[in-house]
Amino acid sequence: CLARDDDFDFFYLVQQWPASYCDTKRSCCYPTTGKPAEDFSIHGLWPNRNDGSWPSNCDDDASFDESEVSDLINRMQKDWPSLACPSSDGVRFWTHEWEKHGTCSLLNERQYFQTALDLKAKSNLLQVLKDAGITPGKFYTVERIKDAIKEGVGYTPFVECNVDQSRNSQLYQVYLCVDSSASDFIECPVFPHGRCGSRIEFPSFSSSTSENES
Ligand code: 5GP
Ligand code: 5GP
Ligand code: 5GP
Repeated sequence: CLARDDDFDFFYLVQQWPASYCDTKRSCCYPTTGKPAEDFSIHGLWPNRNDGSWPSNCDDDASFDESEVSDLINRMQKDWPSLACPSSDGVRFWTHEWEKHGTCSLLNERQYFQTALDLKAKSNLLQVLKDAGITPGKFYTVERIKDAIKEGVGYTPFVECNVDQSRNSQLYQVYLCVDSSASDFIECPVFPHGRCGSRIEFPSFSSSTSENES
């Protein structure tokens, strides 16, 4: 049979390190609900194919309906905040992720957000890194960070870096792969492209800056 253009083989659960979103040239704006805790937060749960391509915007009629996730909003504000400017309550970011990626997930809106939140909690990334002696505010090799996540979560992640204002390469996003029914982590069938420096910063939030921090 022919492949549909909205099929996929697995998900990337993408978590961002807020300090690294904020300390670049573009800066950031804290959510209207306040400065997020120093923890990883969800960027999205992205359907992906084994050949590296991915479907997007699979339902032009879909829109984000806050009432479907009303009992998850507290967790979403804490674990899936938006750091883009201007400051927001997150609805625009959640709408974007749901429309672009969630509509291709075969999950309904509630399942999509609940699944991402539960997988984030299960990965427990910050604790996993701390258990390996990796704490914010210092430099580490990418290999050490990946090994710690492999050890603590059980699967090898992809680490994406960006560059801070002093041009240090730093840990920006961590990708973990999830099976196509979104039930558990798996080894990644394919990794995204991109390279980090050999030593990267794991920056602390307290030393980073935000446009609405004064
Ligand atoms: P960027 O160009 O910032 O890396 O990615 C822009 C957007 O494209 C991401 O926020 C995400 O929505 C989508 N995207 C980028 N890389 C991937 C990928 O490897 N898989 C999937 N499914 N989406 C991606
Ligand atoms: P966007 O999803 O924002 O239209 O595209 C994000 C970037 O990822 C584009 O530069 C696009 O060329 C690239 N890209 C590479 N493979 C894919 C794919 O399979 N699907 C989509 N949507 N973008 C892809
Ligand atoms: P993507 O298409 O790359 O999955 O989603 C990124 C889009 O969400 C961009 O339009 C970006 O401006 C917006 N956005 C809002 N808040 C955030 C955030 O906290 N982190 C990231 N990476 N993008 C955000």
